[in-house]
Amino acid sequence: MPLLDVRDLVVRYGNVTAVDRVSFALEAGETLALNGPSGCGKSSTALAVLQLPRPAAGEVHFEGRELTSLTESELRPLRPRMQPVFQDPYGSLSPRHRIRDAVAEPLKVQGRWDPEGGPARVAELLTRVGLDPSHGDRHPHELSGGQCQRAGVARALASDPRLLVLDEPVSALDPSVRAGVLNLLADLQDELGLGYLFICHDRSVVRHFADRVIEMRDGRVTSP
Ligand code: ADP
Ligand code: ADP
Repeated sequence: MPLLDVRDLVVRYGNVTAVDRVSFALEAGETLALNGPSGCGKSSTALAVLQLPRPAAGEVHFEGRELTSLTESELRPLRPRMQPVFQDPYGSLSPRHRIRDAVAEPLKVQGRWDPEGGPARVAELLTRVGLDPSHGDRHPHELSGGQCQRAGVARALASDPRLLVLDEPVSALDPSVRAGVLNLLADLQDELGLGYLFICHDRSVVRHFADRVIEMRDGRVTSP
């Protein structure tokens, strides 16, 4: 059974159909890239997989559950298992909170915070993404874009996800730090067996990073 199995997904904005019956499957430990020109529906597909918002039609099977048929309260315990990482490294971190609180928050919200071991768990997550635990004391604007994206990955990992939806995760970063973040993601995948739905418009990055590529145009899959 694939980790993620998307069937005939449809996303509409008003009477515009942004995603038109898109289907694909993704195994644990695999990186599947969605490639195609700006506006072809990549981000809309990613958000619909995450049920943010719910798609207009189609099925999203994740770890054997069909998400579109679930109520919001049935979906809530599954949401931590599928984590987004967005293009804007500062976007997933509140400017008002220190990095360590941003990483601790999923543990607290999910009732997995232990006052004894929690701070050490946060330090371990920061170290795992290549940050110094002292970076936890800072606010997002006190980190570089690359460091912030790493902190966002640490926050995603705090939820113990099985799937990361990576929407242009390095496109906003300085070219000199992109390879470091991609290498980190590749290492994490090897270690944890994560599935990656990887959205990227840059063909050379896609060729290097993805196991498989789906090409989209005008809301449809054109290949394979
Ligand atoms: P990307 O290249 O990643 O799709 P965009 O600049 O197209 O980035 O979109 C940025 C944000 O604006 C996204 O959250 C997207 O959902 C939203 N957006 C894109 N197009 C429209 C639109 N026509 N009307 C309203 N919001 C839009
Ligand atoms: P991509 O990620 O490939 O750049 P998007 O999924 O962002 O493509 O956009 C697909 C289409 O949907 C585009 O025509 C875009 O303008 C439109 N769109 C995206 N988000 C919104 C939105 N929130 N409201 C209205 N139209 C949108």
